[in-house]
Amino acid sequence: MIIVMKPNSPLIEVEKIKAKLIAQGYSIHPSQGEAYYILGIVGDTSKFDPTALNMNEYVDRVMPIQEPFKQANRNFHPEDSIIDVQGVKIGGKKIVVMAGPCSVESEAQITAIAKSVQASGASILRGGAFKPRTSPYAFQGMQEEGLDLLKIARKKTGLPIVSEIMSADKIERFVADVDIIQVGARNMQNFELLKELGKTDKPILLKRGLSATIEEWLMSAEYIMAGGNQNVILCERGIRTFERYTRNTLDLSAVPAIKKLSHLPIVVDPSHAAGMWWMVESLSKAAVAVGADGLMIEVHNDPANAKCDGQQSIKPERFDNLMQDLKAIAQIVGREI
Ligand code: PEP
Ligand code: MN
Repeated sequence: MIIVMKPNSPLIEVEKIKAKLIAQGYSIHPSQGEAYYILGIVGDTSKFDPTALNMNEYVDRVMPIQEPFKQANRNFHPEDSIIDVQGVKIGGKKIVVMAGPCSVESEAQITAIAKSVQASGASILRGGAFKPRTSPYAFQGMQEEGLDLLKIARKKTGLPIVSEIMSADKIERFVADVDIIQVGARNMQNFELLKELGKTDKPILLKRGLSATIEEWLMSAEYIMAGGNQNVILCERGIRTFERYTRNTLDLSAVPAIKKLSHLPIVVDPSHAAGMWWMVESLSKAAVAVGADGLMIEVHNDPANAKCDGQQSIKPERFDNLMQDLKAIAQIVGREI
């Protein structure tokens, strides 16, 4: 349910309405723009009677939100949300590029890649420490030590770091040590994990599930937001379709769809979508053209010997050239990189 106030309503009247609703047990999420003031009402509104509000002279209208996701809904918060990650703003005019290896492999590897992607214009370093591998016999990541190495790379470059969490028992460590906590595709509907992450105030990068609909994905964002954490960044990383040529099918239509349905920023991961390094550049360009707020790209200095996802990782030199091309495309669509 949202309450749209009449333009220029006195703040004291808005406060009176808020106080009344809070006394009735609802929680209120205000959203203010230049010419509007909206109050999002959260709670069980099934028995909500809007009569008194409709009679209030400062209330323009009271509207139910039809979709099952409320706090992630654009009606609830008409302006784009901008998530601040140690000063790097995701969701604003600047397109944010996160780059780095699939997995942290050694101090030399992660610091060299961090320096190189930073020089090319990336503003966040990615690196997996806990890896969700299909095979239990495949490299599972450097785990806690991987997080320590990411911290060293952050210290050397100043780049904020994003890394994937796989279970709720590691939340304390992730909150202390990383700047964005990634929830991978395989955990998008791990509701207990999402609930626990909702209790933190860390930015969360929520990847789309392997075969999740856009609505299911936004409902997962809702789980995090319902706990009080509004800092959610969505990541389209390809979905499973009948096509086997690519690892997944990059659903670029998700970008304008999310922009219409939600105020949350959306980034695109072309690496896990394509599964082939030579497609990453074209798909990155397309993602910027279609309106993505950012990109997450796997970059490796020695893809042939990477411990994970070498086939879809681009080399630093290619990444550098790509960043130049992306700058030009960003400009055409009214953005910056
Ligand atoms: C990753 O980013 O390394 C990863 C495992 O991604 P996804 O969850 O999208 O497969
Ligand atoms: Mn990977």
